Amino acid sequence: AKRYDVVIVGGGSAGIACAASILKRRPDISLAIIEPSETHYYQPGWTLVGAGVFQPEATRRPMASVIPKGAEWLRQEALALHPDEQAVELADGSRIAYRGLVVAAGIKLDWNAIPGLAGTLGEHGVTSNYRYDLAPYTRDLVQTLRNGVALFTQPPMPIKCAGAPQKAMYLSCHAWEREDCLGAIDVEFHNAGAALFGVADYVPALMRYIERYGIDLRLGSTLIEVDGPGRRAVFRQGAGERSQTCERRFDMLHAVPPQVAPDFIANSALADATGFVAVDPATLAHPRWPNVFALGDVAGTSNAKTAAAARKQAPVVAVNLLAVLDSTLPWATYDGYGSCPLTVERGRIVLAEFGYGGKLLPSFPSWLLDGRRPTRRAWFLKDRLLPPIYWRGMLKGREWLAAPGRRDDEQ
Ligand code: FAD
Repeated sequence: AKRYDVVIVGGGSAGIACAASILKRRPDISLAIIEPSETHYYQPGWTLVGAGVFQPEATRRPMASVIPKGAEWLRQEALALHPDEQAVELADGSRIAYRGLVVAAGIKLDWNAIPGLAGTLGEHGVTSNYRYDLAPYTRDLVQTLRNGVALFTQPPMPIKCAGAPQKAMYLSCHAWEREDCLGAIDVEFHNAGAALFGVADYVPALMRYIERYGIDLRLGSTLIEVDGPGRRAVFRQGAGERSQTCERRFDMLHAVPPQVAPDFIANSALADATGFVAVDPATLAHPRWPNVFALGDVAGTSNAKTAAAARKQAPVVAVNLLAVLDSTLPWATYDGYGSCPLTVERGRIVLAEFGYGGKLLPSFPSWLLDGRRPTRRAWFLKDRLLPPIYWRGMLKGREWLAAPGRRDDEQ
């Protein structure tokens, strides 16, 4: 088997950022990225595609253009991980060996977990910003709907970018408000969770938009079945014996699928009880195999699963993996930072930034940008600054605002 110093599984936000970070620190290392997709996506842009602000094409680039110089791209799927043998099995049956492994395979969108949903996506008013090809359909539906019932759903956690289901809703409502037809549309938010947003500091600002747009907020309500042609959605409300099902007719349904660890991860020795990769929350090293790391959505950590989190995790994994290859101890630490820019209206954002335990970790002093209030500055950041920061900074190993913490800082 061919052997590399570092093998990275997944060429998404986390995998590419981490590869770039490692190669920036050590350009002569041998590094392979296993990634079957020919296209790299900037998924945070899909919310704005759904709102008609970004063109879909602005959120994708050829994978070849984001693979860092010095990395070898293996264009196929990883099938199985063998940490004891320090090897990865590929789809063509071959094996490659590594000294250090980085798992960055993302999260699986489980469309099939909701009967009727997969087959009707993109038709009958059923859409989702969680897929590149469907986000433009959200935009089209919002532009044509002038009265009726619009349902927005959020599945149980964990999901990537937990704010995205409601972002789609607020931007749709704002468009209808501007068209003066919001009053003729019944908007419902069916959220499987018990709170509008997981960090309480941001809830008051969001609740004001729920009220302004006249949204019927249904907490603890989970989408369990969709009939596209019949335009019916079924929800389970509450849990356990006292749960009830409720059926709603709709003209538009923005659905977000349940999300789970990729199968080959859940079935591997690296998985924790939830199926995601077990890692130390600070060093991102696997507790049993110290030369194995995970970052991004596939990591079994409690941070908000966002590209913003991957931006901060990438240098932590790079530093610690190189330390392990040099037979020293990992010293860089990750504080759980994640960010969720909640697009409450076109032109204003509530910028949630927080770490482990819901601790607020704002990037800016509050006089410059108070994330708990809707601001135009935060919209400018999302609309104009974050895309170039992503493509030209994060994916290139330029670590603006992402210096890793140190073990000693916390002691
Ligand atoms: P991904 O970027 O999904 O990449 C995973 C990669 O692994 C893919 O390229 C895939 O092909 C590859 N892969 C999968 N299986 C295998 C295999 N077996 N072998 C090899 N490769 C494999 N984040 C923010 O920071 N801010 C936002 O505003 C924001 N909004 C979002 C809105 C939406 C609608 C969505 C869907 C996401 C949003 N996110 C946001 C979340 C962000 O996109 C993800 O958290 C981020 O992409 C995670 O990076 P990742 O590399 O872990 O996963």
